[in-house]
Amino acid sequence: MSSRRKFVKKLGLTSLLPFISKSKGLSLGHSCIPKDPIMISTWNHGLTANKAGFQIIINGGSAIDAVEKAVVEIENDPENKTVGIGGYPDRDGNVTLDACIMKGDGSCGSVAFLQNIQNPISVAKLVMEETPHIMLVGEGAKKFAMEHGFKEVNLLTESTKKDYENWLKDTDYVPMINIENHDTVSTLALDNHGNLAGACTTSGAAWKMHGRVGDSPIIGAGLFVDEEVGAAAATGWGEAVISTSGSAMVVEAMRNGMTPSKACEYISKRIMKKYPNVDWLQVGFIALDKYGNTGAFSLKKGFNYAVTTKDKHELIDANYLM
Ligand code: ASP
Repeated sequence: MSSRRKFVKKLGLTSLLPFISKSKGLSLGHSCIPKDPIMISTWNHGLTANKAGFQIIINGGSAIDAVEKAVVEIENDPENKTVGIGGYPDRDGNVTLDACIMKGDGSCGSVAFLQNIQNPISVAKLVMEETPHIMLVGEGAKKFAMEHGFKEVNLLTESTKKDYENWLKDTDYVPMINIENHDTVSTLALDNHGNLAGACTTSGAAWKMHGRVGDSPIIGAGLFVDEEVGAAAATGWGEAVISTSGSAMVVEAMRNGMTPSKACEYISKRIMKKYPNVDWLQVGFIALDKYGNTGAFSLKKGFNYAVTTKDKHELIDANYLM
């Protein structure tokens, strides 16, 4: 139990919670007492990510180091075809990676259209820490990475090359819903010190146009974190997330009093309204408020996310619209 929580309990202040909730402008029905640390991540691979990242938090480390470690674990997995090495290439056969990272105080870094570098999230973190900028793309991002010791790597594995060659036979370009049930990995964390952070990394939509950048490296779209409120991240069709400023909107909905789940549902409904007749469209959001309450929602069935605390490590099916 966190020391602030113990303190509130000790003083017998729990009966005041409804008033505390109101004064914070938060809706009742979710906790406003700071909770123990927590980490949430998108999709099945979120369990692996959380396992790696939460260890840092348990050892007293920071949320920002924890989310980096969590998603690096997935970037390094060549079997995962939607993130890092082994990710599906664009329609010209190039694997191009997008990632961003953000702290609760608004510090953030991002890389997009990065080729031949295995851990875009770590490059994004360096952009945040070492440069006056937020976003580096393409050759510039790669040059920066190599100057900081990253090695050039061939990201197209034999297995994804085979899938690409199969795709070339009919070059059908309809995005698949819940591709392999694991897409972009987005991780949000609250550490022992009450700090929030988030990370988001992907190889993007399979067979995209060369040069296409999705929502995942765009602060406010694929990820947004504000220590005054909470954090949110997205997965799914990036164009729909960018055009609605998805993750920033989830955080704003929480600021206005919605629970993390309601906020994710609200933005999903807005997206659905904008794209009423697109049957293949899938977008999912996860959210974590500064008290440790979590939620998720998606347009279509099939989105899940992993939740890890000191006491649990589980995969949860998100609620959905259709
Ligand atoms: N959001 C990613 C993109 O559009 C892909 C995904 O999560 O499926 O690049």
